[in-house]
Amino acid sequence: MPSDIFSFIFAKKSGLSHSAEEIGAFIEAVVAREIPDYQVTAWLMAVCFQGLSFGETLALTRAMADFGKTFEWDTDGPPVVDKHSTGGVGDTVTLVVAPLVAAMGMRMGKHSGRGLGHTGGTIDKLESIPGFRTSLSEDEFRRIVNSVGCAVAGQDKDMTPADGILYALRDVTATVDQESLIASSIMSKKLAGGAPTILLDVKVGSGAFMKDAASARSLAALMIRLGRACGRKVRALLSSMDAPLGRAVGNALEVSEAISVLRNRVPDGDPLKAVSIEMAARLGTMCGLGKIQQTRSRARSLLAGGAALDRFRDMLKHQGGDPCVIDGPEKILPRAERVLPVKSPRNGFVASCDALQIGELVRDLGGGRKTKEDAIDAAVGVMLLKRPGDPVEHGEVLCEVHSNGTVTNSVATARALEAFRFVSRKPPGIGLFLDWDQGTGTNGTVLSKS
Ligand code: URA
Ligand code: CA
Repeated sequence: MPSDIFSFIFAKKSGLSHSAEEIGAFIEAVVAREIPDYQVTAWLMAVCFQGLSFGETLALTRAMADFGKTFEWDTDGPPVVDKHSTGGVGDTVTLVVAPLVAAMGMRMGKHSGRGLGHTGGTIDKLESIPGFRTSLSEDEFRRIVNSVGCAVAGQDKDMTPADGILYALRDVTATVDQESLIASSIMSKKLAGGAPTILLDVKVGSGAFMKDAASARSLAALMIRLGRACGRKVRALLSSMDAPLGRAVGNALEVSEAISVLRNRVPDGDPLKAVSIEMAARLGTMCGLGKIQQTRSRARSLLAGGAALDRFRDMLKHQGGDPCVIDGPEKILPRAERVLPVKSPRNGFVASCDALQIGELVRDLGGGRKTKEDAIDAAVGVMLLKRPGDPVEHGEVLCEVHSNGTVTNSVATARALEAFRFVSRKPPGIGLFLDWDQGTGTNGTVLSKS
């Protein structure tokens, strides 16, 4: 490949197609570090302008999954499932869904990523729990999944090494937002993870990669098609990411919120709880555990009865986390020095709370990374006390900024306020779920308006 790399790039620049063999040889050479970064990024940019056909995207996905370690699960135990969110703000669904599906009689061995840019990463969140180990040997990971029903570990460095290399280059060359590159990045990791059943949560809105429903549907349909071509059962849910999903944005704050959901201290209709229940219920139907009404009510009652919390506690113990975090998160998790209230400048209703702006503020407070090497401050973040649709009075607290001073207090609170929009009359209900695919791709039906 290295000697042919010029013609490989030239072909894509000219709008020609690659064969599966050419793509395989390219990925093999990328992983072997035989191609300099400038040539890899030239190809990525050519893809952004010329696109990849379905066949090329499939070959890329397969090659990325195959050049690296892949997992296989035994078929005699409970069904093995996986989930993936395309990335959001205040989206702590994995921390609720993993123990919940375990309680429902499924297994979820999840490899999660770190946050990058304005979106959070499950591994960063879990690492705010003292002692929690996200780096597990393959044996240990399997043992925990088989005994507890769930484990959440960091990306194994030997898994999909091509994605690690390509993503780091895309991130700094404005080539992240290409559909085939996103789909192959996500699906190669899901294929390597080995679960036969995969549910995708494709986020749509200001805080998501996909800003509108049409592009989210198109990405979902492509990922479903890729997974199915590789023999996996894949479905997708589209959910809104205009506002942060949970009330908490920031690593330790989100862990604490996930624990409140697991402790059943959060009302029904709470968006984080609703998405978690829906994901677990849909995974249940995909595994043949019942019709959606049955799996939904089972997920609800297992959450309410504490069975999911028990699995979470077991997972914590096995992964070295301090279980006292469950009964007193505020005593165990790191806390910021300052909690700054942000007050409403008027009476009315919250019309919107921009997920991107909140996510960027939390990143700048130290809660996220600008480059892969940045350290994370687990304590900082934003707690939303008011959400879209809520009434507010002048002077009432909209949100609290948890800061350790990387941004001055006045700038931090001004930026938080800037994320909010207000209206005088109660805005119409904000739908959380936009779509659920009907078997062959997403079909455009609105699932629910809450
Ligand atoms: N998430 C991924 O894992 N990869 C992408 O390319 C985009 C989102
Ligand atoms: Ca992601």
